[in-house]
Amino acid sequence: MAKCRWAAIAGMLLLFASPNANSAPAADAFAAAKKLPPLLRAFLYRMPKGGDLHNHLSGAAYAEAIIRAGAAAGRCVDPVSGAVVWTPPCAAPNRPMKDALTDPALNRTLVNAWSMRDFVATSGNSGHDHFFAAFSLFGGAASAGDMAADVADRAGRQHMRYIELMITFQSTGLSKLADRVDAAHPWAGDPAAFEAALNDAGLTDLVKAATPEIDAVEQRMRTAMQCGTKDAHAGCGVTVRWLQQVSRTGSAARVFTQTMFGGLLQKSDKRVVGLDYVAPEDDPRALANYTDHMRMLDYLHGRIPDTNISLHAGELTMGLVRPEELLFHIRQAVELGHAKRIGHGVDIMYEDEPFALLKEMARRRVAVEVNLTSNAQILGVQGADHPFPIYRSHGVPVVLSTDDEGIERIDRTHELQRAVLTYGLDWNALVGLERNTLEYAFVEGASLWADPVSWRRVPQCNGPSAASKTAGGCAAFLDRSEKARLQWALEADLIRFDREVAAGLR
Ligand SMILES: [Zn+2]
Repeated sequence: MAKCRWAAIAGMLLLFASPNANSAPAADAFAAAKKLPPLLRAFLYRMPKGGDLHNHLSGAAYAEAIIRAGAAAGRCVDPVSGAVVWTPPCAAPNRPMKDALTDPALNRTLVNAWSMRDFVATSGNSGHDHFFAAFSLFGGAASAGDMAADVADRAGRQHMRYIELMITFQSTGLSKLADRVDAAHPWAGDPAAFEAALNDAGLTDLVKAATPEIDAVEQRMRTAMQCGTKDAHAGCGVTVRWLQQVSRTGSAARVFTQTMFGGLLQKSDKRVVGLDYVAPEDDPRALANYTDHMRMLDYLHGRIPDTNISLHAGELTMGLVRPEELLFHIRQAVELGHAKRIGHGVDIMYEDEPFALLKEMARRRVAVEVNLTSNAQILGVQGADHPFPIYRSHGVPVVLSTDDEGIERIDRTHELQRAVLTYGLDWNALVGLERNTLEYAFVEGASLWADPVSWRRVPQCNGPSAASKTAGGCAAFLDRSEKARLQWALEADLIRFDREVAAGLR
């Protein structure tokens, strides 16, 4: 009841205050905080935020959280390499992971091996190499639910409303199915024939099996966050949705199988809101088959047009690959892969006809998920060399995301701070970037915004009748759209934040 009253009050406030107003207290406080990074950090941490749309579950959990979960599960570890050994007994030289809770040397070895902490590049071991090697070291130590709790909780503490977590449901089953079908009917570039063989071999059984798997992950996540109790963590208030990963380094049969599965899973379970292609884009198998993979997505789009597709594309730079590899990935992801969002997009200005491509992305409202620290650590691209301001000046929607905050040793607030300090964003730009994170989220429902550039609301929720969401059909509109409810909540958060800043509470 108190919550409803609060929502009504917040709704009324929409009439009287706008977070776009330059004279708003939050804007003034932001301008002042920009002069000192520690002040800016404190301000941005408390600022209401939308969501994180590019966030790999396993890379987002912090090493310390993985150690805790692995210790509780009785995992063992190689104390030299930091590789997890799944099953006890932890015969020498392996050691129980719980030792890392009390032995500083072992703890240091694991945290440093599983993240970029204290990393110094040496010949033959670049930031790129260390970053991607971390996943295979800690894999299997913690359950997906425990890792999700770590990530959702951090999001909640930063006043975020929403996260899309990348994960691979039914991972083992999909690989086995793909290999079995491939052995009987080897992939020959005919997607319809392979799809028929997959269906005969039980692809839809795996889709059905994913729902109890998701139930178990979410149950474990909520239990770890003590949701529904008086000790509920901040993460309990964060809406979590899932993006099914497709690993682009697998065989053609595996990539196609995972692709079709992603489309089917989104259709059957609304907690899964789309799919994304992952694994290093510069991997020789990924490079060799890039266009074939986009054709697979084109086929999926023909079969299940509503599939939400986000693609890592253009996470490349000069020197990492041949210049010829920099010419076409983003364009093909948009035009052939039907990507609604592009992950990274760092090499856009190396593409053929980059300005035409920017124009096309702006016209189609294809959003770019920008991960500034990840790009600096993996690619060495940062500051003026990063195309973030170019996307913005060409009208391409941009969201700021984290990629793998646990491995990078950052959080999303850090990425906002980095963007503000590097590119001189003003308050309106920052609010716009936060609104983008919900506007371009794959969560279900129509948008609150009739115009996502000028930020004009839909007629039902605009004008004097927007004083309360119960008037003017706005309540009915919000009831029908989870996306709009999240957007409405962010607007209310921003207005409340403004008043708290004015009152000296923030
Ligand atoms: Zn990524």
